[in-house]
Amino acid sequence: MQVLKFGGTSVANSQNITLVKNIVANSDSDKTIVVVSALGGITDTLLHAAHLAAKQDSAYKTVVKKIESRHLETIKSLIAIQAQSEVLSKTKSELNTLEDLLEGAFLIGEITAQLSDKIVSYGEMLASYIISVFFQQQQLDAVHVDSRELIITNEINGKATVNFDITNTNCQTFFSNTAHKVIVAAGFIASSENGNPTTLGRGGSDYTAAIIAAAINAETLQIWTDVSGMYTANPKLVKQAKAIPHISYEEAMELSHFGAKVLYPPTIQPVLAKGISILIKNTFNPEDAGTLITKNQNDQGKTVRGISHVENIALLSLEGPGMVGIPGISKRFFEVLSQAEISVVLITQASSEHSICVGISEDDIDKAVQIVNTAFEYEVDRGKIKPVIAEKNLAIIALVGDNMKSHQGLSGKMFSTLGKNNVNIRVIAQGASERNISAVIKKEDVKKALNALHEEFFEENIKQLNLFVMGVGNVGAKFLNQVDQQKKYLNENLKLNIRIIGLSNSKKMVFAEDGIPLKEWKANLATGEKANSDRFFEKVNQLNYRNSIFVDNTASAEVAASYNSYLGNSIAVVTCNKIACSSAYSNYQELKNLARTYNAPFLFETNVGAGLPIIDTLKHLIASGDKILKIQAVLSGSLNFVFNNFNDELSFHEVVKQAQEQGYTEPDPKIDLSGVDVMRKILILARESGNQLEISDIENKSFLPQESLDTDNNDDFFSSLVKYESDFQQLYSDAVAKSSKLKYVAQFEKGNASVGLQEIPKGHDFYNLEGSDNIVLFYTERYPDQPMIIKGAGAGADVTASGIFADIIRIGNF
Ligand code: ADP
Ligand code: ASP
Ligand code: MG
Repeated sequence: MQVLKFGGTSVANSQNITLVKNIVANSDSDKTIVVVSALGGITDTLLHAAHLAAKQDSAYKTVVKKIESRHLETIKSLIAIQAQSEVLSKTKSELNTLEDLLEGAFLIGEITAQLSDKIVSYGEMLASYIISVFFQQQQLDAVHVDSRELIITNEINGKATVNFDITNTNCQTFFSNTAHKVIVAAGFIASSENGNPTTLGRGGSDYTAAIIAAAINAETLQIWTDVSGMYTANPKLVKQAKAIPHISYEEAMELSHFGAKVLYPPTIQPVLAKGISILIKNTFNPEDAGTLITKNQNDQGKTVRGISHVENIALLSLEGPGMVGIPGISKRFFEVLSQAEISVVLITQASSEHSICVGISEDDIDKAVQIVNTAFEYEVDRGKIKPVIAEKNLAIIALVGDNMKSHQGLSGKMFSTLGKNNVNIRVIAQGASERNISAVIKKEDVKKALNALHEEFFEENIKQLNLFVMGVGNVGAKFLNQVDQQKKYLNENLKLNIRIIGLSNSKKMVFAEDGIPLKEWKANLATGEKANSDRFFEKVNQLNYRNSIFVDNTASAEVAASYNSYLGNSIAVVTCNKIACSSAYSNYQELKNLARTYNAPFLFETNVGAGLPIIDTLKHLIASGDKILKIQAVLSGSLNFVFNNFNDELSFHEVVKQAQEQGYTEPDPKIDLSGVDVMRKILILARESGNQLEISDIENKSFLPQESLDTDNNDDFFSSLVKYESDFQQLYSDAVAKSSKLKYVAQFEKGNASVGLQEIPKGHDFYNLEGSDNIVLFYTERYPDQPMIIKGAGAGADVTASGIFADIIRIGNF
């Protein structure tokens, strides 16, 4: 004998019920008991109708109509025409009785728990009846049994306790006496010894199947559902979750107790006692292996077997000086909760005995506060105990595994993973069996926490980086292109999986929760909503993804002003925009502090020398104890390009125009030509070397005429360059006369920084600097005479994009 249980989705409509029939027909056993749930969603709909009726809202009638049409449609498409009328009329008559019951509730404006159980039992009753007739029509030797005559409980409605003595005898007698090969029974519903309707709790059809399986000593219990087994985490929230092939009863119990809804927690107890295995299978993919639950699982290597979570948790804390050393406080606390039938999901007690804190369902919290305060009124009035404290909107997240007890460091790994992702932990509890470690966190952090933990414990170190990219101009577009090209390599070699979740330019912004397809980013962005940098941040924050990185490819002050928000919410920032790091020192310092406090990397390597590893090298020198004595550098790829190409045959403004067109200058070329860009760079290097400097402290001997400096748009700026062409030609010929080249040099020494155009003689390190190259000389305590030199392409969209990319990979390896 075997028991097969099919859940709500498996019997949701005629198509699915046909799949169920095939599974039953193909299973070879002398006798198969088929336990079914109500058609998917019907239990909720019935409860909704009851709720409306009790509120005296006549809309319950429309809801009943909906329930009726679901069933009638299913019958019409399942059952052959000639047999339909009997099934239809029986179903309609049952539904008429249901409507009468609801009308009764509507008239008195109230619903008792017993009536609610009676109403809700129509779901399973009708489903099992219809399915049994369908099976008969399909030539299965099938019969219908009324579970309410087999499963007997106490009188507690909503979640009754089974009387196993009577129930087992009923089942044994019935199933051994029936000659039919297939017996269809309703799950979930039962009756009390007095014959009143009861139910086994939401999700209780699994339990019905286990009770029957244990009573008749079935060879196996199969739970057929809409997923391929018990997964390493809820597959609806964690895309990477996988079915666990083999798991122990205890592990399955622990996972289901902590929210793995695929199995109703009480289900395991009856079959465990008899050593009957449970196989969880997928009705829609019957060839998938599913999950086998037995006494011992055979995978000794795996420590953490699954991660589960329970939402809608509230914490209830009792504390006060009067609790110390006084026996019986906890006993009374638990007693009042138990008398009110409030179940406690998690317990922690401070070792000082000063406080005790429990996790309960959020639905029970108001009642719990009231009964506990009443119970401890005497102590509260005398100041020995404080009024009980309630906290809502929480969730429990739990790591589960039989082998966890023999491994150290798992909780450390769990909490550091949560910490890195800014998931605040309210309470920690570890089961005495060491089979689970649980933490109470904010409900809104559940998805992020589950995914971060899943990545840590199950995904062979593949780390997902979730990028939110602003700016798709020269640099941004190249960057997206590079990510696209390198995706596969990074996944295979660095175990990094990069996804662009959000993208924005100055006009539009778009988000895709599973990542924007990189080949189609332009088309995707075009369909986006109106861009707004505040709303962009709100959306990033609300999505609350682990390993979130905000990437700024703009030169915008408004965008730079938003970094505080990102870092303050533990979102990393990678930027090529120099504005933030060269703004007031206090702002630079605040960003650095936020990054440290909230564990959010803030990287801006491309602020100086595009993709050259200048800031990273500087950081390493300082971290290893070196001191910077002097920095000399040519830091403007743009100015280097301009002065390398400028000669007496070309006009100055033409060369500048060319530099702008080839992406070697900022969108506003005056920022480069005036030296402001170089000032920002040397300022950032000075600050990164540990100096407190402002931009106004930097000396700038500009080679531009005042009139050019005073312009406020690109057209006027270029006109002024045309007007002063002879000045620029003079600079050039003066340098040539001394066999020198013009270079725009930045210098920092003994706390003083300056920038300006210099005539560099032959033989100097700077003389042969080609194209748009940059060069930096670091004179340090370890490199006092021969400086450490970093040299190479220092401008251009491609190298800047690759510098941004390098920063992102640094975060990935962090
Ligand atoms: P049924 O109606 O078949 O009884 P349920 O909805 O009660 O199905 O249970 C199956 C659902 O449980 C899945 O669709 C999934 O959303 C949810 N679930 C939660 N945690 C897990 C888990 N760890 N493994 C598998 N499913 C899970
Ligand atoms: N139909 C019931 C519910 O939705 C029982 C079950 O499906 O297991 O809770
Ligand atoms: Mg279920």
